[in-house]
Amino acid sequence: MSVMPDVNTNSAHPDRHHPDRHQVVVIGSGFGGLFGTKALRKADVDVTMIARTTHHLFQPLLYQVATGILSEGEIAPPTREVLSKQDNATVLLGDVQSIDLANRTVTHHVLGREAVTPYDSLIVAAGAGQSYFGNDQFAEFAPGMKSIDDALELRGRIFGAFELAENLAAKGENVEHLLTFVVVGAGPTGVEMAGQIAELAHRTLKRDFRFINTKHARVILLDAAPQVLPPFGAKLGAKTKETLEELGVEVQLGAMVTDVDERGLAVQDKDGTKRRIEAVTKMWAAGVQASPLSRTLAEQSGATLDRAGRIGVNPDLTLPGYPEVFVVGDMIALNNLPGVAQVAIQGAKYAAKEIQGRIKGKAPQAPFKYFDKGSMATISRFDAVAMVGKLRITGLIAWLMWLGVHLIYLTGFKNQVTALLHWTVTFLSNDRSERVATEQQIFARAALQRIPGGASELVSAPGTGAVDRRAELEAIAAEEARLTDSGERGQVSDRTA
Ligand SMILES: Cc1cc2nc3c(=O)[nH]c(=O)nc-3n(C[C@H](O)[C@H](O)[C@H](O)COP(=O)(O)OP(=O)(O)OC[C@H]3O[C@@H](n4cnc5c(N)ncnc54)[C@H](O)[C@@H]3O)c2cc1C
Repeated sequence: MSVMPDVNTNSAHPDRHHPDRHQVVVIGSGFGGLFGTKALRKADVDVTMIARTTHHLFQPLLYQVATGILSEGEIAPPTREVLSKQDNATVLLGDVQSIDLANRTVTHHVLGREAVTPYDSLIVAAGAGQSYFGNDQFAEFAPGMKSIDDALELRGRIFGAFELAENLAAKGENVEHLLTFVVVGAGPTGVEMAGQIAELAHRTLKRDFRFINTKHARVILLDAAPQVLPPFGAKLGAKTKETLEELGVEVQLGAMVTDVDERGLAVQDKDGTKRRIEAVTKMWAAGVQASPLSRTLAEQSGATLDRAGRIGVNPDLTLPGYPEVFVVGDMIALNNLPGVAQVAIQGAKYAAKEIQGRIKGKAPQAPFKYFDKGSMATISRFDAVAMVGKLRITGLIAWLMWLGVHLIYLTGFKNQVTALLHWTVTFLSNDRSERVATEQQIFARAALQRIPGGASELVSAPGTGAVDRRAELEAIAAEEARLTDSGERGQVSDRTA
C-alpha cells in the first residue's frame, strides 16, 4: 500500500488499495507510462502511475506550441482525466528520486514531501532529457524542447525578440541580433522549429510591425553533422535542406557550437574556422540524455549504460537480475532501437502483457520485437518528408500523412477537434491563435534555478505554518463578515479620520 503523507483522511478513499492484489508501479506519464497503464486496464492488478507532471505530453507537437500554432492544453491532456475511467489506476504527482530494487520500493517527492510506494512489478518509462554534451551552462541561453515549460519559454523568447526589435528599431538602433534566430541540431525537431520560425517571420508577422521588417529576420539551422535529418537517409536529407532554403532558412552543416551566451554563440566550422553569430534567441535540439533513473537502476543491477545514459536491458525489456522490473522507451539501449514514440508504446504494451501473463501463469512471451511504422517530419505547411518501409515520400502527400497520423495519436477527442481547428486557421490563413507570451514564461525557469531549493523553497515545510496561517485566514474572514453585517463598509473610521 502507498505511504502518502499530508493526506486529508476525511476525503481519502481508505478502500482504494487492495494490499493482496498485485501492485504495479509505473514511472512516467509519457508514451511508455500512459500506454503501459492503459494496457493494464483489464488486469487483476492495482496500477500506480507516478510522474513529475500532471499531464501526458505529446512531444512531437511541442514545436507548434513554441511557435504559436497550438495551445499547451491541446498537446498535454491531464493524465488523471485520461485515466479517470480506469478504476484500477491511481495517478500520483511526484518526482521519483530513488528506486530500491532490493526492497521493491519507489520514492518520490513533491514540493519537499516524500512518499514511498512498494511494488510487485515496476515499469520505468521516465524518458530522456536534453543533452548539452557536458555544457549544461548553455541551457540558460538556449532552451531545449522537451517540456511544456520549454515550449512556452521559447514562444516567449521568439515573440519577445520581435517586440524588443520593434522598440529598438523605433529609436534607430541596430536590431540584427534580435532578428537572428538560431536552431542548433538538424534532426526532426530542429528542422520543424526552423521551418516554423521562418514561416512566422516571413509570412505571419510581416504586417504586424512598423519599424522592423520581419521578412528580413535570419533563421539559421546549424549542426555539426554533414547532413540534415540523418536517420531519414541522404536523399530525404538533401530534399529537406533544399526546401528549408527555399523557405529562407540558412542551413549551416559541419558547424559545431563551442560556446553560447546571452547575446549569441561561438561556432567552429569543419575547416577549423571560428566565428560568432550574434543572436539573442537560440534553441537547442541537438542531443538527448536518458533519465538519471537509468543510472540508479544500473548502479544497483550492474546493467550497462551507453553514452546517452540509456540502460542495457534484456531482450524481454527487463532489468538484468530483476525480472519484475521493466524499462521501456527512450531510456533503453537495445538493438539500436530509435528514440521514438512507437518504441515506447510497443515496449510498454509488451511489458503490460508480460505482467498479466505471469499473474495468469502463462509462459513468457518471445523477446520484444519493434514494428517500425515509419517516420516523418514536417518542414513547413503543406510540406513534409516521410519514410514508410522502403517508401520515401515528400511534399504535400507526406504532409497529409503527417496530419492524419498526428491527429489520430493526439490523446482525446476534445484535443483532436481543437487542434484541427487551430491547424485550419494556421494553414489556410497564415494566422496563429496562440501568440500570448508572458514575462513569467520567459524568466521563471532562470529565477527558480537561482533559488537553491527550487520551488520547494517557496512553500512551507510539511506540517509547519499551517495552524498559524489557518488562524490568520479565519480572522480575516470573520472581520470581512462583521464589516458587511454591521454596515460599516465605506464609513470613515476613527483611525483614518
Ligand atoms: C520535440 C520532440 C519531438 C519529437 N517528435 C517525434 C516524432 O515526430 N515521432 C516520434 O515517434 N517521436 C518523436 N519524439 C520522441 C518521442 O516523443 C519519444 O521517443 C517518446 O516520448 C518516448 O516515450 P517515453 O515514455 O520513453 O518518454 P516520455 O514520453 O518522455 O515520458 C517520460 C515521462 O516520465 C516522466 N518523468 C521523467 N523523469 C521522472 C522522474 N524522475 N519522476 C517521475 N516522472 C518522471 C516525465 O514527466 C514524462 O511523463 C519527439 C521528441 C521530442 C522531444
